[in-house]
Amino acid sequence: MFEYDSIAVSSILGTSLDAVFTIDGRGCIVDLNPAATRMFGWSREEFLGRNISLIVPSPLKEQHDRFLAAFNPDRGVKHVLGKGQRLDGQRKDGSKFPVEVGISAFVQDDKRYFTGFVRDMTERQRAHDRMHFLAIHDSDTGQLNYRGFCASATPNDDPARVICFRLEEFRRLLTSYSQHWCESTLHDLAERLQASLNPDEVVGRIREDSFAVLVRANAVERAEVLQQVFKKPVAQGRMHFPLTVTIGISRASGDIEQRLHDAQRACDRATSGNKGRINEFNDTMSQCIRRELQIENRLRDAIEHDGLSLALQPKVRLADRRITGAEALIRWHDPELGDVPPAEFIPLAEHCGLIGSITDWMLQQTLGEISRCADPAISIAVNFSALDFLQPGLIPGLEAALARQRINPERLVIELTESVIARDVERVKARMHDIKALGASISLDDFGTGYSSLSYLRQFPIDSLKIDISFVRDMPEKADAVAITTAIISLAKILGLKTIAEGVEREAQADMLQALDVDVGQGYLFSEPVSAAAFHRLLETQANTPGLA
Ligand code: C2E
Ligand code: CA
Ligand code: CA
Repeated sequence: MFEYDSIAVSSILGTSLDAVFTIDGRGCIVDLNPAATRMFGWSREEFLGRNISLIVPSPLKEQHDRFLAAFNPDRGVKHVLGKGQRLDGQRKDGSKFPVEVGISAFVQDDKRYFTGFVRDMTERQRAHDRMHFLAIHDSDTGQLNYRGFCASATPNDDPARVICFRLEEFRRLLTSYSQHWCESTLHDLAERLQASLNPDEVVGRIREDSFAVLVRANAVERAEVLQQVFKKPVAQGRMHFPLTVTIGISRASGDIEQRLHDAQRACDRATSGNKGRINEFNDTMSQCIRRELQIENRLRDAIEHDGLSLALQPKVRLADRRITGAEALIRWHDPELGDVPPAEFIPLAEHCGLIGSITDWMLQQTLGEISRCADPAISIAVNFSALDFLQPGLIPGLEAALARQRINPERLVIELTESVIARDVERVKARMHDIKALGASISLDDFGTGYSSLSYLRQFPIDSLKIDISFVRDMPEKADAVAITTAIISLAKILGLKTIAEGVEREAQADMLQALDVDVGQGYLFSEPVSAAAFHRLLETQANTPGLA
């Protein structure tokens, strides 16, 4: 029977929760503690005299035997041979489990011994596995998340492409229905998607509203097949509604994150007509994105360093062609990019949250120019985007700006596009009333291009309608443009609204608009947008030229 040099040692080992084995130079077990029998299922008697390889599964078993044979410790010195090594242990019933092993060697009575401390890591391993699983999976659907998708989907063969499926209604569903319903719907969709995959394809839920699939076969064909998964309407109680799923396909180059990014960008860039369809990322998109990033970057700089300017385009009364006001239009000349048209940077500014600063700046400038006009009848219009209109600080901001400049608020016109009123009718209406209460006027821009039904307009406190350039452009030649313009004008008259025609370039257009009783015209025929100084000169000239009326 083996006995330790010290009684203390054997009593400590007896109470240890870790299994402790002592083996001789040939690997035979000479002692063990009670924890060892509990952990491995062999009794003390069964263990004693057996080789320690009994608890080591193959192929470690063989390596272990070779190591013992080769090891030759210095006499009487304790060696720590290994600490915290992760291995597999094997129970009497043959089942394996993870263990951590520390081994020390010592010599007693001229014989070589080893003591192994074995810790059962099953629970810890389980917790670790669970944490790892959670880190790379999405808890709603059980599918890989962004991180997991990127880690698991290696596009090592070049034709592999990522398809992104974006659920357009996701936000609306989430705000309208319970979290639980949304989770189970997503779970259902994820399962349908998973069931339709080829064995070499990987799926992930990479954003709250998007799934991605790495495919190796023809991506467009695969997108068409997988699209079917989303065709079945989702059910909420007795209601069934179809989903709009926009699909983006990456190029077959770059690492997985690059491909995923491409596919998402292809979704982002899907115009309203391409939502719910398949969109492939291409080089043109990549160039556009580069330009957009450049614009965004330079625009921030322009806002901070006074790089923007304002142009004023006169509005004239058609009856006598006298200037009654102007529209303020933003201008941006960048040292690197040159002149960037507002139609290009305004939508980007809306997208990246810069529009608020631009509108504030334009509003300040416009109010300043209004106060510089000697004629108190001159009004100037400033363009507000839909985003400006619904932001909470709108009314206090406007009120403060008007108070600072001390101008008659009636001289400020806010131009809103028709798309604004189609948004949140009640809120928009309330905002419009607030603006009216401050004394400013409201003009509905680009009228005729949206979907507002005519009777619908009645509910909004609008002062004027701006007939869209597209109708004016085709007048007087195209009968349908004339017919629509005539209808808009008569509607405006019935509702008591003033009419303004934009984009008037030719005399024939001005004549016809005047004949149709349009009040005001704006366009190159009268004047292009000019600097504020030039606008004030035009007003001065006008003041020195008495009109007919
Ligand atoms: P919009 O509000 O419809 O502005 C009228 C646009 O028509 C202006 O283009 C103007 O220069 C142009 N225009 C004026 N007369 C004629 C004409 O006779 N023929 C033609 N073909 N075009 C004419 P601009 O300045 O390039 O602005 C384009 C759009 O960018 C504006 O359309 C407006 O939606 C937006 N925008 C411009 N400035 C601002 C701004 O300060 N804030 C916001 N939110 N949007 C702005
Ligand atoms: Ca406008
Ligand atoms: Ca317009």
